Amino acid sequence: MNKIPFLDLQPTHSVIKDEMIQAFNSIYDSNWFILGQRVVDFEKEYASFNQTKYAIGVSNGLDALFLAMKALGIGSGDEVIVPSNTYIATVLAVSYVGATPIFVEPDSLTYNINPKLIEKAITTRTKAIIPVHLYGQACEMDAINDIAKKFKLKVIEDNAQSHGATFKGKLTGNWGHVNATSFYPGKNLGALGDAGAITTNDEKIAKRIQILRNYGSKEKYYNEVIGHNMRLDELQAAFLSVKLKYLNDWTVQRQTIAQWYNEVLQSVPDVVLPHTHSDATHTYHVYVIRTKKRDELQKALTKHEIGTLIHYPIPPHLQTAYRNLGYKKGDFPIAEEFAKTSLSLPIWPGMSKENCVQIGNVIKSFFKH
Ligand SMILES: *Cc1c(COP(=O)(O)O)cnc(C)c1O
Repeated sequence: MNKIPFLDLQPTHSVIKDEMIQAFNSIYDSNWFILGQRVVDFEKEYASFNQTKYAIGVSNGLDALFLAMKALGIGSGDEVIVPSNTYIATVLAVSYVGATPIFVEPDSLTYNINPKLIEKAITTRTKAIIPVHLYGQACEMDAINDIAKKFKLKVIEDNAQSHGATFKGKLTGNWGHVNATSFYPGKNLGALGDAGAITTNDEKIAKRIQILRNYGSKEKYYNEVIGHNMRLDELQAAFLSVKLKYLNDWTVQRQTIAQWYNEVLQSVPDVVLPHTHSDATHTYHVYVIRTKKRDELQKALTKHEIGTLIHYPIPPHLQTAYRNLGYKKGDFPIAEEFAKTSLSLPIWPGMSKENCVQIGNVIKSFFKH
């Protein structure tokens, strides 16, 4: 039996190797590495891909979320609604601006924030909602935006896992006032290092973020605000431009692999398969199954040299870092249940059907015994 890693970038990276080396060579020869034409070009290309007026390249996804909130003026004393089952970065960004994260439980089918539970969490201090398109599936953005409008809140999409996903035909990263994404190497669109972007249709906010990411300055050595060094660099921008051309094709491959898994695993009664909302598309950043026997199943897969991960083993409200928020076990039972039962199976563009069948057979034989 073949060893199967959790993620293998080799199949996609080998196809584009010549183009990537060309991109590297052109920047190496230009001797220009920070805020040049490559960043401008990629920003145009990504904005066009995302059908937003603006995209601003930044250092990573966490900084993108932070800058998005800072540009909206969210800060100390404010509350920001986040899903209780998200990756820690979403919550950290809220802390970075000095605001308080307020957790709302996910829908138990889609794993995305449940719009029906948002209104109950709103107080006079609430300033924004951060929907996270978790695992690659778009959130119910129409319902979320309706609530935001009713209560005059800002919406900041966390689009780190879902480049190219849609809800009712409209792309994620194009619904909120200002939206953040990550190009961490393992994401669906990944750089060869840290990188991220902000997308928005608001010119004022776009300009504010361009200044904030670059020392608070529009003109070199003239500082308008206390800014940051959170820029996307030329090399990563050039690499991302190469990869962006392939992204739609890679997403289709991920969806095909998810379909193979669905077919192989549908007859296993103890396994909950991913569920896609009828108005959403899913880009399968990760393929997550759920089972009460998660830890034992993971061990069995490891024994067969099949890589898996848990997204995520500890929900944010139970992390040591957030002890001061005063939450305890049982406060967000759905998120806690997901943390105990979720298991992410290998998925990457170029993964073979044989791999899916092999993994499926290990899972089936595990549940037979
Ligand atoms: C990866 C990720 C981030 C953070 O991105 P980085 O580039 O690693 O800082 C934020 N939110 C979610 C949901 C993510 O998956």
